[in-house]
Amino acid sequence: MFRFINMRRCSAPYGVRQLAAAFPAEKPCLIEIRDLKISYGDTDALRGVNCSIDGGSVGLLGPNGAGKSTLLKALLGFVRVNSGTVSMFGMAMPKHALDVRRRLGYMPEREIVKPKESAVSFLTYCGCLSGMNRIDAMERAHEVLNYVGVDENRYRKMETYSTGMCQRVKFAQALIHDPQLLLLDEPTSGLDPEGRIEMLELIAELGRKRGITILLSTHLLPDVEHVCDRVIMISKGRIAVDGPIDELMIAREGCIEIRVRDNEKGFLDALVSRGFSWRRLQTGTINLTVPVSTPARAIFEIARNCGTQVRHFRAVHQSLEEVFINAISDRNGAEKSPGEQTAVEPELSTAN
Ligand code: ADP
Repeated sequence: MFRFINMRRCSAPYGVRQLAAAFPAEKPCLIEIRDLKISYGDTDALRGVNCSIDGGSVGLLGPNGAGKSTLLKALLGFVRVNSGTVSMFGMAMPKHALDVRRRLGYMPEREIVKPKESAVSFLTYCGCLSGMNRIDAMERAHEVLNYVGVDENRYRKMETYSTGMCQRVKFAQALIHDPQLLLLDEPTSGLDPEGRIEMLELIAELGRKRGITILLSTHLLPDVEHVCDRVIMISKGRIAVDGPIDELMIAREGCIEIRVRDNEKGFLDALVSRGFSWRRLQTGTINLTVPVSTPARAIFEIARNCGTQVRHFRAVHQSLEEVFINAISDRNGAEKSPGEQTAVEPELSTAN
């Protein structure tokens, strides 16, 4: 289990007080993104992203190639922006990148360990880079290593560490300067199931109890469900969904799972002409989106008129995956047959 430490706030040595004078009296939004477009050559990685984040634990969810890492890099000022604006803590990026990076912790997806050094020496070095003196940095290194659950292994060279251990060290370096905001890129990558739950618990604890704002980028739905209270779903460089997870997952009034026998086509055509849309699941069952305020008996009546027998009828709760599929289906808009929404493979993983 993780041990908890007193996560004290950094004081003057890390440059935060000096920055305070530069901030307006009104508390600025932590992250403000307006119409952000970023391309790599011919590849449009972000195609007009708008969002604001001002606290809480936010999941940035999307399949590989959706643009998540590019978005994080834009927040860090690591990538050239084609158009649009990024403001962090009220400061324009990338102009104020150094000031901004003092206040946020970043855990990248790729490895960042130094093989020939121990975790203590690496973390001490990171602390010094953040502006601490060596003694403070070493003390802080031990605190964060305790916190992330790196025990006596901290004195061994990092080349001898397991993937899980490297992941914890990488997480620790993001915490070394006690940031207000954490940007985490696939933080559970390479962890075994037990390590993964421990990491998620730790992230959740930092967010919910210690008031650190978390932006967790991942393609793993369960990670978002475990940690976050809000999800931003990104698909092909655009935000497809943004909202509180609880609200997104509430059973949509008017989302029905249905199986029928006899004249299925006539029945579906009749539904579509009345404003319903549908999507066939792999099981053959049909997911029906019902116009607002349609009573269930209206569907049975349509079935009766078509000579169709309803064999299964159930109001459905949406999983996060369904929320995502529906959102990108709506966005793609292409229809296979009238009323049928395009079934899109989201490539999100539900693996635990
Ligand atoms: P994600 O993090 O969601 O997997 P990325 O932001 O890494 O997505 O990538 C978004 C798109 O930009 C992808 O099509 C990817 O191939 C492309 N891309 C990312 N980085 C580069 C790069 N350095 N050069 C060219 N294309 C890139």
